[in-house]
Amino acid sequence: MEENFAYLIQYNDDNSVNVPFGRVAEWYIFNHPLLKNIRLKYQSRKRTPELIKADIIKICRVEGAVDFIEWNTKDGEIKSTNRIDDIVKLTSKGEDYIKQIENKEKKNRICWSWVMYCSGEGNSCQHKCGGIGSCKETCTNYSLKNNVKNYHDMHLCKVRIISESKLSWLNKEKPLKIKIVGLHLPTNIPIHSPKISRLNLSRQVRDNIIVDRRSDHRTANSVKSKLLAPFNGAEENVLKEALTNQRQICNHDKLRSFLMRDDRRLKENAEILKPKGYVLFYQQPDLSQLEDEKHFYQLTLSNEFWLQNSKKFGQECIGMDSKHDLNNDRAPVLVFVVENNAGSGTPLAFGLSNKENQWTIKLSIIAIKKNIPCDRDDCEHKWNYVNLPNGMGFERVRECNSFNWNPFVMTDKHRPSKIAVTNILRGTILCWFHIMQTIGENFNQWNIPWSLR
Ligand SMILES: [Zn+2]
Ligand SMILES: [Zn+2]
Ligand SMILES: [Zn+2]
Repeated sequence: MEENFAYLIQYNDDNSVNVPFGRVAEWYIFNHPLLKNIRLKYQSRKRTPELIKADIIKICRVEGAVDFIEWNTKDGEIKSTNRIDDIVKLTSKGEDYIKQIENKEKKNRICWSWVMYCSGEGNSCQHKCGGIGSCKETCTNYSLKNNVKNYHDMHLCKVRIISESKLSWLNKEKPLKIKIVGLHLPTNIPIHSPKISRLNLSRQVRDNIIVDRRSDHRTANSVKSKLLAPFNGAEENVLKEALTNQRQICNHDKLRSFLMRDDRRLKENAEILKPKGYVLFYQQPDLSQLEDEKHFYQLTLSNEFWLQNSKKFGQECIGMDSKHDLNNDRAPVLVFVVENNAGSGTPLAFGLSNKENQWTIKLSIIAIKKNIPCDRDDCEHKWNYVNLPNGMGFERVRECNSFNWNPFVMTDKHRPSKIAVTNILRGTILCWFHIMQTIGENFNQWNIPWSLR
């Protein structure tokens, strides 16, 4: 059901453990008896940012990680979600730093210091003040809503998960130290029955859901049946535990709002690209529509220089081809090129979609056509963004648009390309390479003797 990482955990004398970076840390925490049915909250991770800034370490995401966001601070810094399965690596400057530590020229430094704590959900833990499930009347939090000063108030429970790493540990096999301290309840009260009200899925499960959503546009129902699949035929206690801790499964409403949050996140990411003008077209699929252009995910990217080039050199003919082996998902990438005056190919635009068909190709071609600058030298060739009528995306539109840009499209004999080009550009011509290849194949099929070829 779930990978077992027990063999990778090193138990230390002080009740702490050491684990490798990556998925093992989350696995250890979630399987710890004290944390089984608990939702954790996180402080911010300390010491890591300053060492990244100093170019001593870098953070790598564990393979398959997609459940995180990035954002810019006011000071122009890039920040992103901290994950327990993040991997800290030394930069080359960091490697030098380590040598200096070994030679006692520099002091060792903490590169990861992070506290997580029990959220106390379900009012079943002992508060810091000693009250169980609620504060004592003498506590300063007593009259506050939910007995907390703010979201990050750690008052509701005393359980802490403290994780730490140091520069000199980074080259070791198990560089992350985790120590779990405190108890939910005093030892004389044996029954602890927390109740989780908020989303509590593990990072790994969230990653999987997001990938399903973004690549295959699975609905909440379809994601749910996939989450439940491993529990098919599971023993009652296993299922019961899964339903309580909600780390591998969760109810429909939570799942739906999680999916909606990710849809929004994806849209915001695309918004970030707007100011630079790289996005010519962006649309999320509208699955309520029948098979037509609105039904598919489509992103078309280009830049000002490429578009100007196409105006200059792409009057007669541009090239178009699709590649499926450029990314892990094997999503089709449509590549547009023009031949410049030096006879070499330069990019014009890239189209990315979940499916290659006449609709998605057409969207890319129209997006390019709407953004080719006009002929005038004294024109600023201004452009702006317009939201799509159905609210599922936006497109870049050139104010001065060049209506006389109407080249042939050189392509292979792919039928959808031909349909897509019809009525938008002058027409398709077959790529010389593909023509020769086809003729060759036909010669073979027809058994034409070599002497006649
Ligand atoms: Zn209290
Ligand atoms: Zn607790
Ligand atoms: Zn113009």
